[in-house]
Amino acid sequence: MRMSKRMENLPPYLFVEISKKIAEKKAKGEDIVSFAIGDPDIPTPPNVIGRLCQAAQDPANHRYPETEGLPELRRAIADWYKKRFDVSLEPDKEVLPLIGAKEGIVHIALCFIDYNDIALVPDPAYPPYSMGTILAGGRPYYMPLTEKNNFLPDLDAIPADVLNKAKLLWINYPNNPTGAVADLGFFNRVVKFAQQHNSAVCHDGPYTEVTFDGYQPVSFMQADGAKEIGVEFHSLSKSYNMTGWRIGMVVGNATMVDALKRVKSNLDSGIPQAIQYAAIEALTGPQDCIQEHNAIYQRRRDLVIDMLNSIGLKARAPKAGLYIWAKVPEGYTSVEFANDVLDQVGVVVTPGTGYGKNGEGYVRLSLTVPNAALVKGLSRLAGWRDHKSKFKSRG
Ligand SMILES: *Cc1c(COP(=O)(O)O)cnc(C)c1O
Repeated sequence: MRMSKRMENLPPYLFVEISKKIAEKKAKGEDIVSFAIGDPDIPTPPNVIGRLCQAAQDPANHRYPETEGLPELRRAIADWYKKRFDVSLEPDKEVLPLIGAKEGIVHIALCFIDYNDIALVPDPAYPPYSMGTILAGGRPYYMPLTEKNNFLPDLDAIPADVLNKAKLLWINYPNNPTGAVADLGFFNRVVKFAQQHNSAVCHDGPYTEVTFDGYQPVSFMQADGAKEIGVEFHSLSKSYNMTGWRIGMVVGNATMVDALKRVKSNLDSGIPQAIQYAAIEALTGPQDCIQEHNAIYQRRRDLVIDMLNSIGLKARAPKAGLYIWAKVPEGYTSVEFANDVLDQVGVVVTPGTGYGKNGEGYVRLSLTVPNAALVKGLSRLAGWRDHKSKFKSRG
């Protein structure tokens, strides 16, 4: 057989490799604590599951759903944006439910990217921005996110010949993996920049509800003119612990939303309706679970930061998101450090380079580890330090 060229450029998804490595260790009977994957360990709220079960009993929900989702769901999403960010959206034109945000993030590349076109992608970043670009035949141009720039891309550093070919600009705040946040001023600058260079903007914002210390994130759609040039991807995955149900949304520019709808109508047959009803319940029902979950994550965040600092890894406490972005100790690359803690103390952390070249020197730890495992993992990391200091004093 002869496979496509695009397959040559497509690495396996980052977490496929990590999961394989963990599975191998587990098969050998090793007890592993993983801080690797950002998948909430806390269950979906009971009212949401209740609605899902009820909707699953209704034969009307056993049939093919519509690509554009239930009108009630589009309305619930628009109402949520109004309530949450004071952003007005036309439910039938500016809202599209997705089979999880990742699905839309990859597929929107098909609406913009032809062979050799460029998408501006942060580095480090959630991998689907560049993978969607590559699948569509285009090329990612990586914008470094560095500590010096507070992990915001330096738009003025992008060369003019790149800008001529750049049809999409990707950004993501609160950011995965760096934990950085952006303010409205930055989003306003992005809109101006994209208008100047005739590029569409895709903002990915699934962590706006996962916040700490009273921090209030903004939506990209609050920026002046955002709707003229861009969309925002969002998801119920992280807000309501619904990663397994696969439900998200894109909102904003009607032309972009319509293009993605057209692609999707040829690709998939919509989101199972029982899951859409569950999503309506999540968005319109009681919201207490969000504060409760954030209190749990914040406690975990503080424990992880204290431990990392005590073993000599520098990490800032993030204001939002599910991740700690920690500097590895001197003398290690990201991969060397990740392999060392896995081999020495059975703890999995994600090497920063899995998110791009500029992730070198960092590892990512996820806060989605149940409390007991988290405490065990942290005391093992303390053991890693003791192991190292013994090693050093002997050597
Ligand atoms: C988790 C995550 C998503 C994916 O959300 P789904 O709706 O589960 O597909 C999108 N973007 C980022 C940055 C994420 O971390």
